[in-house]
Amino acid sequence: AAKQRGKAAYVRFVSGMAQPVTAHMRLGGELRRALENREFEVFYQPIMDLGTNKLVGTEALVRWNHPERGLVSPGEFVPAAERTGLIMELGRYVLREACRQTAAWLAEFGPDAPRHVAVNVSARQLHDPGFVGDVRDALGDTGLTPDHLVLELTESAVLRGNQVSRALHDLDGAGVRLALDDFGTGESSLSLLRAFPAAIVKLDKSFVDGLEFDEVDPARRDARQAVARAVIQLAGALGLEAVAEGIENEAQAEQLRALGYVYGQGYHLAMPMSAGKMTDLLTEQRRAVTAAG
Ligand code: C2E
Ligand code: MG
Ligand code: MG
Ligand code: MG
Repeated sequence: AAKQRGKAAYVRFVSGMAQPVTAHMRLGGELRRALENREFEVFYQPIMDLGTNKLVGTEALVRWNHPERGLVSPGEFVPAAERTGLIMELGRYVLREACRQTAAWLAEFGPDAPRHVAVNVSARQLHDPGFVGDVRDALGDTGLTPDHLVLELTESAVLRGNQVSRALHDLDGAGVRLALDDFGTGESSLSLLRAFPAAIVKLDKSFVDGLEFDEVDPARRDARQAVARAVIQLAGALGLEAVAEGIENEAQAEQLRALGYVYGQGYHLAMPMSAGKMTDLLTEQRRAVTAAG
């Protein structure tokens, strides 16, 4: 296996020497220009209570409003932003904007506002010694209190490095909640949970996919159901909240409710949307509540 890996690395290195270097530099330059031109926009996807169908929070998801290509999804530029280091500045922007917007919603909609915003943090940000200070500044400058902020981290980001553990405990101590994103896909989910002050686990979409298929492939469905059940039981035992990601139909939502999931996120419940669209939704929701009594 080591030999294979060595060979793969060699191939990557050689092909990396050829064209991708310039492509990579070009994208890096483009991203910098885009930041300066304010082409990045934060979208928000509702996180819902599966029982009451009420919005409890949002996840902030960055988009690139490209002048020619239109809305570009983060999968196409976040990896490049990470490689070039531009993720530091982009991440600070998303964090600050998400905090500012959430504070504004709380001020305008009070109890009907989303109670928290979850912001994705990449490994590179987490390893920056200034990260905890950035979070404190974003909260202080926007007036959002720490209990309204969740930081989403992946297992791989948390695993690497030692001073990360210190940063995570500082954030936890400050009252910011930490969520393990894409939970169940990493290699050491269980041991990580012991060492890491997580408050929330997000069951990865891959275990939600096909939860509802009974006849097509019963064995695969059973395996996913087993993981979904193990995660909710683990969360319960450790006193963590669990959120199921990527719910695409009612049958999946039903399965998750039956397993004990309280919170969910997915296209079936609500799509990611611009801040303006979210404000419209909150206004509509408040009107409905007022009309009902
Ligand atoms: P993630 O944090 O796991 O976010 C969930 C992704 O699943 C989002 O994709 C969301 O739009 C998508 N999604 C939600 N519900 C459904 C569903 O029912 N079906 C399907 N197929 N997809 C669903 P998106 O917005 O393209 O973001 C992809 C990834 O990019 C995120 O995965 C996150 O890792 C990263 N990302 C997004 N915004 C940021 C950011 O501001 N900073 C950093 N570092 N990473 C970000
Ligand atoms: Mg996330
Ligand atoms: Mg996720
Ligand atoms: Mg995911």
